[in-house]
Amino acid sequence: MNLVFATQNQHKIEEVRQLLPKGINVLSLKEIDCHDNIAETADNLEGNAQIKADFVTNKYNLPCFADDTGLIIDALNGAPGVYSARYSGPKGDSEENINKVLREMSNKSNRSARFITIVALNTTNTTHFFKGIVEGHISMERMGDKGFGYDPIFIPKGYDISFAQMSLDENNKISHRGQALHLLIDYLTKTL
Ligand code: IMP
Repeated sequence: MNLVFATQNQHKIEEVRQLLPKGINVLSLKEIDCHDNIAETADNLEGNAQIKADFVTNKYNLPCFADDTGLIIDALNGAPGVYSARYSGPKGDSEENINKVLREMSNKSNRSARFITIVALNTTNTTHFFKGIVEGHISMERMGDKGFGYDPIFIPKGYDISFAQMSLDENNKISHRGQALHLLIDYLTKTL
């Protein structure tokens, strides 16, 4: 079956292709010729994931899933949270987002944080949600250069290396998005 993953992020498409069984053909937005800028206007992760999945399903009549991720930092009262992508401004620059977090965390001793991913799947007649969480803490400085986004400053619980120091395989096994995608895959394998 063809299933659209509503993301512009090629890194995520590759992550998912590694995880999904062969019978499921994941198409990116580019591959279905969708170049719309889908505004994420909800104030929670579920809402934003659903907006993206619904947009594609309604416009192209194809099953589609979308994810929305937030980095929740306890010492910052849950920020950047649902606003993780544009924490430092509308450009959504990851380097600047990291700089802002490190600046705000410079005098904080409680560095606990978590990534949460919500995946919304629109099968053309119903929507399902899948959730993944990974606990960890914010490092004092950047560590590693793999991955993307906040990876260089997030150290998952039980590790002393950041997400940006792990292989994609290792990351997929424990990550928030990996967990949510595994739940999605279980569902797809059982029901479709
Ligand atoms: P989005 O929901 O995937 O657009 O992500 C929101 C923000 O969190 C963006 O700034 C991403 O770069 C960041 N982000 C999402 N997933 C990850 C991840 O697995 N590691 C690090 N940063 C991420």
